[in-house]
Amino acid sequence: MNKFTKLEEIRGVGEKTSALFASRGLFTAGDLIACYPTGYDRYDDPVNVAEARPWQIVTLSLSVIGGGSTARAGKRTITHFQAGDRTGKVRLSFFNMPYLRGTLSPGSRHIFRGLLKTTKTGLYYMEQPQIFTPEKYAAVQNTMQPRYSLTKGLKNQTLVKAIRQVLEGYAFPADYLDEKERKEYGLIGQAEAVRKIHFPLTEEDVRSARRRLIFDEFFSFILTVRRQKAQAQDTENLRPMKEVPLTQDLIGKLPFQLTQGQQKAWKEIQKDLSGRHVMNRLLQGDVGSGKTILAFLALIMTAGNGRQGALMAPTEVLAGQHMKALCEMAEKYDLPVHPVLLTGSVKARERKKIYGEIASGKADIIIGTHALFQEAVEYHDLGLVITDEQHRFGVRQREGLADKGKEVPVLVMSATPIPRTLAIILYGDLQISELRELPADRLPIKNLAMEQGQRDKALRFLYRQVLEGRQVYVICPAVEPPDPEDMEDPSGLISPGTSGEMENVTDYTQMLREVFPPQIRIDSLHGRMKSADKEAAMERFAAHETDILVSTTVIEVGINVPNATVMLVENAERFGLSQLHQIRGRVGRGKDQSYCIFLYAQGKDRPERLDILVKNNDGFTIAEEDLKLRGPGDIFGVRQSGDLGFIMADIYADSGVMKLAAACVDRKLAKDSAYGAGIVKSVDFRTI
Ligand code: ADP
Ligand code: MG
Repeated sequence: MNKFTKLEEIRGVGEKTSALFASRGLFTAGDLIACYPTGYDRYDDPVNVAEARPWQIVTLSLSVIGGGSTARAGKRTITHFQAGDRTGKVRLSFFNMPYLRGTLSPGSRHIFRGLLKTTKTGLYYMEQPQIFTPEKYAAVQNTMQPRYSLTKGLKNQTLVKAIRQVLEGYAFPADYLDEKERKEYGLIGQAEAVRKIHFPLTEEDVRSARRRLIFDEFFSFILTVRRQKAQAQDTENLRPMKEVPLTQDLIGKLPFQLTQGQQKAWKEIQKDLSGRHVMNRLLQGDVGSGKTILAFLALIMTAGNGRQGALMAPTEVLAGQHMKALCEMAEKYDLPVHPVLLTGSVKARERKKIYGEIASGKADIIIGTHALFQEAVEYHDLGLVITDEQHRFGVRQREGLADKGKEVPVLVMSATPIPRTLAIILYGDLQISELRELPADRLPIKNLAMEQGQRDKALRFLYRQVLEGRQVYVICPAVEPPDPEDMEDPSGLISPGTSGEMENVTDYTQMLREVFPPQIRIDSLHGRMKSADKEAAMERFAAHETDILVSTTVIEVGINVPNATVMLVENAERFGLSQLHQIRGRVGRGKDQSYCIFLYAQGKDRPERLDILVKNNDGFTIAEEDLKLRGPGDIFGVRQSGDLGFIMADIYADSGVMKLAAACVDRKLAKDSAYGAGIVKSVDFRTI
């Protein structure tokens, strides 16, 4: 078995299961291997109620008192039980599981594991605890069990089983690090790391597995970048462009003045495009610093030179927004450009037409997602490639781009504040432009963190802002309420897991529609919608046909609606700091005062991390403070979200490993300049 082995060919994985895996983006053995746990459940010894600490995950051995009762709550039912031991009592609640009254019969003893909560008056309760018979619990006691991120219908136990199966039969490629090298870098073997990340015995196992896998992620990233660079290195710019009056003209007509940073960066880009060497530049600027206009100027300059410029965005929504903004600008200022939009959801007929226009050169500005760099797309005369929100793209998308863009000038734009020192390790000696200030007309965002118990106050505030004509985003971590039917089942009974309740877009939208008067227009947006529907929802919001948009983090990157002035984030404790900073960056984009409210789950201590955000609006400072707080190698902390396409590596927290990996790449390349073609593929298990 290797990484390309289809899941349905694996023993024990049926048709139904492989369809479930597919819906989670898992198609091959390699995909499964790279589906790392999001955490581990430690099954501790049961304790007495009197010893148990509230607001922690605890395991209790309790007898059920009485028969339990079921009540209706909206669309759901809640079933309550009283249970206890010699030292105290706990109330247990379960959603939509009235049948439990058959299992948890009066007087029966079970093991319950979950978050122990307490009411203001000191009564203990647990919601959706896992239930075990004493025998079943004994089987997992004192072990660490992997917890995976699941989708509807996919159970944790199904993943555990399939991954065990894969690991048994998997033929790992030879480790690219020999024993001596591993020792030198303090790393365990690749195969061992994969086994330990899924099925560790101790926390030390997790730590050493992570270190190796993170090293591999950095190694393949840096190797890819270095190899691309080697191709472009000091490549002579055979067709330098000319500066065109059109761009200067446009700058003069814009409704705002470019900031100093923008002016400087624009000069640098212009110089690169017309200079002797092929451009390879990173444009870094915090959210809202105004990177898009620079991309547009560069594209217009390229078109003005009779060549084609491509702009790649990480999401269809963002690509669509760029297209719209450029078209509006082209119309308003009568720019002689012919832009086209190419994304995965463009229909076959339209697509064919667009391909034709790209191949003939009729289209001179091409905006889209990574569909821009699929094999079928042939450019007439590609003169510039820009990637927006570069930190969102992984190694593989980058490779597709490198194939089309050999010797083509590249501008990458990123809002992830990578300190210059780290950027140089990652990207080698590429040129960097930085936008360190926001446009002058901006007021700093006012921030607030509150318990979810104070939601009413927040909602009243939203309401007042909407009455003043402003728009609001609400971010929820989930799309739908959890369905108990879907939850895992290691005990043979039920086991809803300990993830706790979190707000979801569906219920929240409903709730807002109930509490606000009908003239307030409320809409929702999430990743499970069809892309046409997503775009439509986004367009309605941009056109101010919607007042409040309830969304998941799909709006996290790039979206620009300057009239939106309030961002309300539910369950803020569930997001990484830089992710929250990016989310917050959706407001504060116009001249009006903007606000960001972080609501966190009740009962937990006020998360210290949120204070960093409340006190700072600057991405660099936040990243630094975050690192200080978490410390390097914090294995169970909230992770940054998928930056640079890494699954596990975090450029801040793991910068030590990053340096090691860079040194290792340089050493390998020094020995053999052709090193690496097959390595990247063997290091990354994923196939899509
Ligand atoms: P980001 O850097 O996050 O991509 P955008 O390019 O989307 O930011 O710009 C955010 C908003 O700021 C847009 O509405 C844009 O028109 C506006 N903007 C850009 N540059 C300036 C400027 N110099 N002065 C005022 N507004 C600006
Ligand atoms: Mg942007």
